Amino acid sequence: MQIQFLGTSASPAMPLPFCQCEVCTVARHRGGKNLRRRSSLLLNQEVLLDLGPDIVTASYAYNIPLTGITVCLQTHPHEDHFDPELIISRHPEYGSQQMTPLLLGGSQKTLSMLDVLIQRRCAYGSLFTPQTQQALQLEVVKISPYSPITLGPYHIIGYPANHATEHDALLYSITDNNAALFYGTDTAAIVEDVWHDLKARNMRYDLVVLDHTYGIGYPTSDHLATDEFIRHAHRFAQDHLKDTGRIYATHLSHEGIREHTALQEYASHYGYHIAYDGLQVTI
Ligand SMILES: [Zn+2]
Ligand SMILES: [Zn+2]
Ligand SMILES: [Zn+2]
Repeated sequence: MQIQFLGTSASPAMPLPFCQCEVCTVARHRGGKNLRRRSSLLLNQEVLLDLGPDIVTASYAYNIPLTGITVCLQTHPHEDHFDPELIISRHPEYGSQQMTPLLLGGSQKTLSMLDVLIQRRCAYGSLFTPQTQQALQLEVVKISPYSPITLGPYHIIGYPANHATEHDALLYSITDNNAALFYGTDTAAIVEDVWHDLKARNMRYDLVVLDHTYGIGYPTSDHLATDEFIRHAHRFAQDHLKDTGRIYATHLSHEGIREHTALQEYASHYGYHIAYDGLQVTI
């Protein structure tokens, strides 16, 4: 599996556009890995995790094609993870040609909210009707928590996130014959039922990507902060990581976060890594 991070920030991007705190000021000054787009991940250039608002600029910046995407798995419908305009641009009125058909997956409540967001912006009809699906060249795939589905070579399990529960937000376990990925943003502390299921299935990952919105000295609230992230990293490393497996932090904001190199140095003491935009990982 070829993994590419298209974005690694929380909702306001990073640095925050109007913030002059030390973290944002240093990030602005140093640039590079400190400049983060809204979170999204691409797998084998064909499976997208979250149709985020910055995936197009990321694709230009890192020369990553999006035209081969066949599956988009939505974690939830928050605006930093879903840009309805990108779906709307598939309509014939926009004149896109030779599009790859798309499977748009998510929980039923997330799919329903995506439909609301799309219909607020256009009159192309509901995502759940055959006419609209044909016009947009997509199908919707409902993913129920703990129920594995197979899409092409990928075995996918959605797990309930501890975040946006009104939308039944999902974390995703994706495996193929060679590798296993756990994508865990957005979430606060992962609930025990999820850990039990991972244990029951004896899941071991090559790559675990986890929410790290808040940094050192901040509490976990609707997202993980450093202390709780480290506990999660240890738990994954102990029970659900292959010997060569790696754990990456994503969805970073500015509270308690350090400049990238300093934060990476901090993280390496606890056995994890800090993702950055454009990072490629082969597992
Ligand atoms: Zn988010
Ligand atoms: Zn700031
Ligand atoms: Zn969210």
